[in-house]
Amino acid sequence: MAGEISSVPLLSSAGQPQRIMNRILTLALTKGRILKETLPLLDRAGIRPCENISESRKLVFPTNRDDLQIVVLRGTDVPTYVRLGAADIGVVGKDVLLEHGAEGLYEPLDLGIARCRLMTAGPSGWQHTGARVRVATKFVNIARRHFAAQGVNVDLIKLYGAMELAPTMQLADLIVDIVDTGNTLRANGMQPLEEIAAISSRLVVNKAAMRSRHNAIADIVERIGAAVGERA
Ligand code: AMP
Repeated sequence: MAGEISSVPLLSSAGQPQRIMNRILTLALTKGRILKETLPLLDRAGIRPCENISESRKLVFPTNRDDLQIVVLRGTDVPTYVRLGAADIGVVGKDVLLEHGAEGLYEPLDLGIARCRLMTAGPSGWQHTGARVRVATKFVNIARRHFAAQGVNVDLIKLYGAMELAPTMQLADLIVDIVDTGNTLRANGMQPLEEIAAISSRLVVNKAAMRSRHNAIADIVERIGAAVGERA
């Protein structure tokens, strides 16, 4: 599992960094598209970074709340920071939680932002011939579970980007990727096939922090929840 540090003696017997009781709360945000949609939501929840995150190269930002700072991370690192208590709360795509696991995390809120679909896709007119299917994706765990549930034999090819190129270059037959409008697929001669999961960003909370810092975290979750409700 990503983020395992069991051989590193940094954790207390309660499984949390010693400093967790005294420090201010840390909210880990996913950079990129999710960040753009998260900041207005936080603003409506009364949580405002003290400088413009989008225009800064910094990674840590104080906020208007004395008890809360923000860090900005790659999405795949957010669950690791929150699981291990380096951050108390996080905002991350459901795709990341499905792919890397949500062990050690509460998921109290669907933020309803950065909505998209995780889908299989293939060249226009593609049909399954019954042979083994080569599938290119960065979501290898999700793809493995999906095709296993259907009894389809697949060879998974791990890629880190531009999945839609793989069938064109005969590297793979199908891809598993995130689809929003479908324009990227169509521009590359591909069509969406099956939906695997509806994706949106989620608020996640470290389980131990939810107990030890309950009032402060419950207040933040409630405010963000109300901001999500306002938007709906
Ligand atoms: P589209 O062409 O609108 O279907 O967008 C597809 C591409 O945009 C995907 O390959 C993703 O890289 C990216 N994308 C779209 N929506 C999201 C999202 N909510 N989270 C992360 N990536 C996304």
